[in-house]
Amino acid sequence: MSVVLVVNSGSSSFKYRLIDMFAERVLAHGLVERIGEKVGVATHTVVAHAEAGEPAPTVADVTQQLTRAIPDHTTGFAVMLEAFAAHGPSFDEHRPDAVGHRVVHGGARFFRATIVDDAVEESIDDLSLLAPLHNPGALEGIRAARAAFADVDHVAVFDTAFHQTMPPEAYTYALDREVARRHRIRRYGFHGTSHKYVSEQAAAHLGRPLETVRQIVFHLGNGASVTAIDGGRSVETSMGFTPLEGLVMGTRTGDVDPAILLHLQRTAGYDTDDLDDLLNRRSGLVGLAGANDMRDLVARAEADDQAAQLAIDVYVHRIRAYAGAYLAQLGGADVISFTAGVGENAALIRERALDRLGFLGVRIDHDRNRSVPRGEIAQISSDDSDIVVLVVPTDEEVEIARQTLHAATFRRAE
Ligand code: ADP
Repeated sequence: MSVVLVVNSGSSSFKYRLIDMFAERVLAHGLVERIGEKVGVATHTVVAHAEAGEPAPTVADVTQQLTRAIPDHTTGFAVMLEAFAAHGPSFDEHRPDAVGHRVVHGGARFFRATIVDDAVEESIDDLSLLAPLHNPGALEGIRAARAAFADVDHVAVFDTAFHQTMPPEAYTYALDREVARRHRIRRYGFHGTSHKYVSEQAAAHLGRPLETVRQIVFHLGNGASVTAIDGGRSVETSMGFTPLEGLVMGTRTGDVDPAILLHLQRTAGYDTDDLDDLLNRRSGLVGLAGANDMRDLVARAEADDQAAQLAIDVYVHRIRAYAGAYLAQLGGADVISFTAGVGENAALIRERALDRLGFLGVRIDHDRNRSVPRGEIAQISSDDSDIVVLVVPTDEEVEIARQTLHAATFRRAE
């Protein structure tokens, strides 16, 4: 068994990647979007690879684009299959042995990647109540893919699963217990696939068994979260009941005093949709400085733009607070890693995030931090730093593929 198709479905689009798991080599990837609109768009890229013994690919990646009506995910899958048939790679040679699906919410039920059957589909559907923006799209993708690839295992890989190891004191809100129980309110945590992947990469980079390493992972993308990981187990994470809690994000507030919502309802006539829009789409970096791309904000801040400077100050202030809190929860750490768009690319954010941890022996090497090679693991702490600080590129698709392969292989062995 060696080829896995990874599918990441949203409500009106899905991304896919075909991976040869023998060398974790991407064979093709694509995006089917604007599902349900008048004209859908499908983009399919066949990845070029060097022949054995050759230093570099002899042909370039080939990207094809097609536009036509794609009314639903089932049609989207048919379009994807046509793209494979027309442009390769051929399924005769590289037929997927399993299909892995990203599912945002697995609730308290799913603590690992799980083979999808009708009962699992039903649970994902039931969990749409907790993730109304995410689970329905994933479910559509799963149904369409199960119809298109009826004879292989489909595996659901949940963003929440990695955090199911959190102890009760970390996942419990100090809410009325009965209300919390009835409405399944607790901290679930998200970005688990990325936190798991990055923490494994970091331990491997240190050359130490995962079980012996205490670490903190900052996933700073458009969405942002931080996780404390003890011996490979998530013990605390900043996203909570939804992906809104915690760090300042591109368009989301992260932590706010919930009484602000009551205040806006009482005195300014905000209803549920207004609050949802404010908290999830009009806040964070966009709310503070009108833009969510950290590249722009850093450039503007350097040119003395005060809104951009404040946005970065608030962003970093929150990261520092979490770094301190999680170091305290773990009782110290061996390694702190930065990942995702901002974490992998914004040297300024990384150095400012840790600039007050000198008292714990955290020493950033500024030259290393400013010259991190793109796409590679890099140490940015100096050699005499007591805590190693790394930049670790995340790869959620590869992690989904690994877990898919593992679950499918395990099932076959049963
Ligand atoms: P998503 O959460 O959508 O997967 P990503 O992990 O791709 O997000 O991160 C996207 C964000 O990364 C962008 O909004 C941008 O702020 C930031 N980013 C990307 N490249 C750079 C860069 N060179 N410098 C600073 N920030 C960057």
